[in-house]
Formats: sequence, structure tokens, C-alpha cells
Amino acid sequence: MPYVDLHTHTTASDGSLTPAELVRAAADAGLAAVAITDHDTIAGVAEALTAGRELPIEVVPGVEISMAGGPKGSMHLLGLFIDHHNPDLKQSLQRLQAARAQRNPRIARRLQELGIPLTMDEVSALAGGGQVGRPHFAQALIARGVVANRGEAFGRFLAAGKPAYVDKFRFQPAEAIAMVKAAGGVPILAHPGLLGLGLAALENLVDELVSHGLAGIEVYYSEHHNNLARRLAALAARRDLVISGGTDFHGDNKKDIHLGVGRGTLRVPESLLGPIRRLATDGDQAP
Ligand SMILES: [Zn+2]
Ligand SMILES: [Zn+2]
Repeated sequence: MPYVDLHTHTTASDGSLTPAELVRAAADAGLAAVAITDHDTIAGVAEALTAGRELPIEVVPGVEISMAGGPKGSMHLLGLFIDHHNPDLKQSLQRLQAARAQRNPRIARRLQELGIPLTMDEVSALAGGGQVGRPHFAQALIARGVVANRGEAFGRFLAAGKPAYVDKFRFQPAEAIAMVKAAGGVPILAHPGLLGLGLAALENLVDELVSHGLAGIEVYYSEHHNNLARRLAALAARRDLVISGGTDFHGDNKKDIHLGVGRGTLRVPESLLGPIRRLATDGDQAP
């Protein structure tokens, strides 16, 4: 049976492979399709689509948008089959990029105030020209010997509520879902298992998101154990939602997650792709 990976990150956000490298790696892994879903950007999509034309693999244009809400104040929405030329989507994502760019120097300043003389140059260099985010601050703190690992960096400094945490602008769920739909894409709640909710609370949240137009749930995911995936699949069936699945591959920036297979056992069947594709609309016809 052919398999797919509908959640991956390239150097356009915080992955370590360029879009072309990632598509090649996915084809080498024998995947039938791969979706490019960088954080708050579609900058890698065109290169990935071009690379896919030469290879026996389907490239699904996508994005992963940070939106407000949930118990942690932030949730992720996948948009699959988006039109990456859609001007409104581009403009909305630029707003998120700008918010990110303003946030980073403020994080650096907080760390400086805490006696850690870290500079933005140092952090940007770790991003290798891509989008800078908190994982790069974590790397810089490790490189300086301030912390031993990423978990300690977030736990002591970077996580919400910690001294170097700076909040950033996020769209409301209704706005993020509308953005994806207006660009012809299919809005899917990413990794619900990471929200830290029990099944009943999750079901309420999904109902609320469905009222805004949510169309699917990411059921198969590197960090979802089989029992959770079964329950999520049942929830999707009850609410008539499509099911998606992916690894959240970041290349060397998440070394234990491998393309197509996650920690080794994940398999996302190609048969999930048809129902998602059928929901994707032509951006021009969307309301
Ligand atoms: Zn995510
Ligand atoms: Zn992701």
C-alpha cells in the first residue's frame, strides 16, 4: 500500500532540508505524496512543486498557521491544497511573519536582561537564512552552555509564562480557517493530541472549530499513540470530518522524526488524500 506524509517543514520555516531536498527525500522514501506545511509561510511551496514535477511523487501545497485558542493559548491549523498564489493568503501570512520578526529581538532583550548576552546575529545564524523562532534561541542557549538541552531552554526561559517568553500576534481560529478556505485549501486541526485536552474537552473544541468551517483532523501523527489515533478517527467520523496524517518532519532540527514514518512506526495511507483533495476548492470560487 502506498503511503503519504501530509505534514513537513523545510528551510522556509524551521526545517533543515530545502523544499527541493525534502521532495527528493520523500520520493526516495517511496512516498506517493508529501505536503509542504511550513509555519506561517508558503515561501517554500513553489520550489517544492517544481521539484515534484520531475519525480514520481505528488506535492501538496500547504501551510501550518498558528492561531489563538486552546488551553495553551495557541493551536496549529494545517491548510492543505492551498493556492499559494492567493494574494489575501500571502498578505495575511506576511502579517504573521512581521509579528514573528518583531518578537525575536524582544526575546533577545529579555535574555540579555537576565544576564545572558545573546545577540540576534548569533540566533539568526543558527536559522541558516530561514525563519527565526524559539527553537533557534534554544540552540543558542545550548551553544553558550547556559542550558543542557532544548527542554531545559524552554522550561527555564522560552515557554509561555517563563521569563524570556514574549507573546505574539495570532489570528483567531475563525480568521485562520477562513484564510485557508478563501485560498481554496482544506483547514485541518494539527496534532490535537498535543493540546493537552481530554477527549470530551477536545470534542467541544472541535465542535467550536467546525462551526467556523474546520474540515478535518490530523489523526495520524508522530506523537499520537495508536489508541489516541483510533479515538480521533472515531471523532472525525462522528463529525463527518476528513482525516489527515503526517510526521511533522523537521530534518535535523527534530532528529528522531523521520520522513513518512515518524519515530519508525507511523504509516499514513494514500487513501486519505482523495477525500481531502475533493474538499479543496478553486480559490476563485470560494466564498
Ligand atoms: Zn504544529
Ligand atoms: Zn508542524
